Amino acid sequence: MAKIAAQKLLLETKLLYAAYRRKPIHNLTMTATTCFVGGMLWQVVPATAFGTWIGVLLLSQILGWIEYLAFKRARPGPQAIKLWQRVFLAQSAATSAAWSLGPAWLISQGVSSESAFFVAVLMSVAALAIVSASEQRWAVVVMLVITFLPPIIAFWSTGGEVDLRISLALICSMAVAVTVGILINASIRKILEAGMRIDSMLSTALIAVIGMDVHGQINHWSRQAEDVFGWSREEALGRSFESSIIPQQWLSADGRSLAQLLVDDGVEILYCKHELIAIRKGGEQFPIEMVLSEHDSSSGFDYSAFIADITERKQAAAAVEESEVRFRSLFEWVPDPLIVHQNGVVVYANVAAVRLFGVKSLQEVMGQKVTDWVHADFREDAIKRLADLGSVGATAPRIWRKILRADGTVFDAEVEAIAILFDHQPAILASIHDITERKRVQDEIQNLALQDPLTKLPNRRLLLDRLKHAVDLSTRSANYTALIFADLDKFKAINDHHGHDVGDLLLQEVAQRLSGCVRDVDTVARLGGDEFIVMLEALSDQLDGAATQAEVIGRKILLALNTPYQLKGITHRCSASIGVTLFTNFDGTPDELLKRADLAMYQAKAAGRNTLSFFDPRLQAELADRLVLEDDLRTAIAAEQFVLYYQAQVVEVTGVTGAEALVRWNHPQRGIIAPTEFIAVAEETGLILPLGNWILRTACVQLAAWAKRPAMAHLTLAVNFSANQLKQPNFVDAVLGILQETGANPNRLKVELTESQLVYNIDDVVAKMSLLKAAGVGFALDDFGTGYSSLSYLKQLPLDELKIDQGFVKHILSNPIDTAIATMMVALAKSLGLRVIAEGVETEAQRQYLIQLGCHAFQGFLLSQPLALEAFEQFVAGQVQPISAHTGA
Ligand code: C2E
Ligand code: CA
Ligand code: CA
Repeated sequence: MAKIAAQKLLLETKLLYAAYRRKPIHNLTMTATTCFVGGMLWQVVPATAFGTWIGVLLLSQILGWIEYLAFKRARPGPQAIKLWQRVFLAQSAATSAAWSLGPAWLISQGVSSESAFFVAVLMSVAALAIVSASEQRWAVVVMLVITFLPPIIAFWSTGGEVDLRISLALICSMAVAVTVGILINASIRKILEAGMRIDSMLSTALIAVIGMDVHGQINHWSRQAEDVFGWSREEALGRSFESSIIPQQWLSADGRSLAQLLVDDGVEILYCKHELIAIRKGGEQFPIEMVLSEHDSSSGFDYSAFIADITERKQAAAAVEESEVRFRSLFEWVPDPLIVHQNGVVVYANVAAVRLFGVKSLQEVMGQKVTDWVHADFREDAIKRLADLGSVGATAPRIWRKILRADGTVFDAEVEAIAILFDHQPAILASIHDITERKRVQDEIQNLALQDPLTKLPNRRLLLDRLKHAVDLSTRSANYTALIFADLDKFKAINDHHGHDVGDLLLQEVAQRLSGCVRDVDTVARLGGDEFIVMLEALSDQLDGAATQAEVIGRKILLALNTPYQLKGITHRCSASIGVTLFTNFDGTPDELLKRADLAMYQAKAAGRNTLSFFDPRLQAELADRLVLEDDLRTAIAAEQFVLYYQAQVVEVTGVTGAEALVRWNHPQRGIIAPTEFIAVAEETGLILPLGNWILRTACVQLAAWAKRPAMAHLTLAVNFSANQLKQPNFVDAVLGILQETGANPNRLKVELTESQLVYNIDDVVAKMSLLKAAGVGFALDDFGTGYSSLSYLKQLPLDELKIDQGFVKHILSNPIDTAIATMMVALAKSLGLRVIAEGVETEAQRQYLIQLGCHAFQGFLLSQPLALEAFEQFVAGQVQPISAHTGA
């Protein structure tokens, strides 16, 4: 409110100053008019009266001048405006009165013939009043009324008809003049008000306003211009706009002046925004935005420039642009394929996405519907998922879909979508990962973990998993499940003999045959090595029925596996031993079931292989016994609970040439235990190594002792070695070491090896044997005839002796085949230059027959049982028939 009042006061002040500015002209005109009227009426009007009037008129004008000069001196501020307005009003009223009183008096004196002249003069005075005092509304009204009223009254009162009419005409003129005066005053006020408004706007506007003339000389400099350019108003006025504010070269490249430019290209330059570089007072250059406008020269300047300092805007724009470029390039080159879509239509994509979809350019992707890229089978689902995404920041669940490439190929993708704003519109940013490779690797890992890589059958882990499932199910169902354990017979020999690649082929073939024997719902798995498991589910709910079903399948498997194999052009034979266990409502672990099937399988093996055996609880007891035995054996080795028995080897005519050392376990509770009961366990558990060491050492100690006794000194000792001992890398050193320590004569030591022991690595065996042979140790091939030895094979081995297996000897008289084999073996030994000895000779008939074949060395109960040391020594000494012996057999 205070502001508006101040504005009003300012307006009044301006009006008053404007009125006073015209005062001298008014005064001069009045004086000129007075002189003119005076000159015209000098002869007509009575001298005294006229002189008085002229005098009054002049006086009023002198007062007018005094008033004017007083005002100029006073230069009143807004607070004195009211007073001076009144002064102005009073002076105007006085002047007007002076003007009108004279004619009025003259008219009333009847000088009517001059009335027309007076009327004309009054009109001029009235016009003068309107012109000179129009800024002051009341002054105009008062002046007009006072000018007109006295003559009107004077004309009226003469009573003449003409005068009456003049009077009425004057009344009309007065009314018109007053109206015109008031209207002019109103327009002046309006114009002034508008000007003030513009001034106030310009002074508060943020832009700098600079006015200049046609030559570019500054003649207006707003407050903002001071702020922007640093020049004060006083400093700036009169300067050249071009040289100090906007250097010319930035206006036009060809050096034309602003004036010239305006003349040449006025339309293009005026009223348009120009971005230019300007200079501040200190010389600093900065960006501006400028609009030039042209004015009527009468307003004081020809052009005005509206200038905004756009330094900050430019900096902000540059920063925005820079960050935009940065983010765009980030988006573009981020290695993850990214797309942005709005309402399912692609609006942006990056380079990785372009590559992923196999298109040539971004343009090919833009505008496409994302769902069109999804395989038809998954499209509906994708559309649904798209619609589901919520407000900004919401992420969609990972979506797996078949996505189409440009070339029509399909890939699996993991899509992570997030709702964003893109160009101020809701959009979805999706990152797309091709997971084909990842899935493949995952599948592979999964398969590796659960599948046997060789046969592609489920592995042990998967089997146990399924077995567990079957066990769980068995508590709810009355049906039996059969677990079949199949173990290949003598697979190891094939592996060792023909190489692992053949072994692998065989296993693959076996896997196929097994799968061919069962229904699709059944499980065939490989436990490892040559062990396979078949699980038959949902068999009968009766034990008999289930057992029959399992047996049928079992026999089918036996038959299938027993069929010859064609591998690498060679026919192989391989049978299997099968153990079966049946269960329902079983509350044990899958491992227990496997153990049962395993046991049954061992039973089948024991029963002569290539056969099938059901799990028998008695087997479990045996297993338990075996575990006890294993434990005892460990203790026995530590406590050296073993003794060596000696079985004589007798040569026709010569007599006892030596003995085979056969180990016995002198068990503290069970007494003497035969090696058949514990050697296998010792081999399986690795205990054979310390035991074998003990045996060799004891035998060597004995040899050394006999060497000192002439009656025994000629004896040799045959010592049995197991495959595990032979395989030890330090086998040779160990044997030589013991020989050295005990002082035994290596020539008296015979190492007995079986054929199957030798096949693991012929080169290694030959090397080791040769080293020992060089030291004098002899070698005998034990159980000859039960293995696979071929002639060429035998020839490579540095052997001294073949031992015809007792199995042949036993039936040498009854079985023609055994007879033939024994005959051949003797002949073979002779041809190879080897000695030959028959073991297990129990009857004189056998002995005679062997002699007939050409075999002269014997070992067997006919000659002597294996004997304890003392008994053996006595036997040798007296060649006395032994009385008793623990054979343990
Ligand atoms: P082997 O090397 O073939 O030993 C011969 C087996 O035949 C001995 O059984 C012996 O008592 C038995 N025997 C000898 N003459 C006759 C006979 O006329 N009729 C019959 N029916 N049997 C006869 P033993 O002592 O029970 O040994 C069994 C197997 O245990 C041995 O077979 C051998 O493979 C192993 N063994 C024995 N002692 C040792 C040893 O010190 N070290 C190793 N590694 N194995 C041994
Ligand atoms: Ca032997
Ligand atoms: Ca033997």
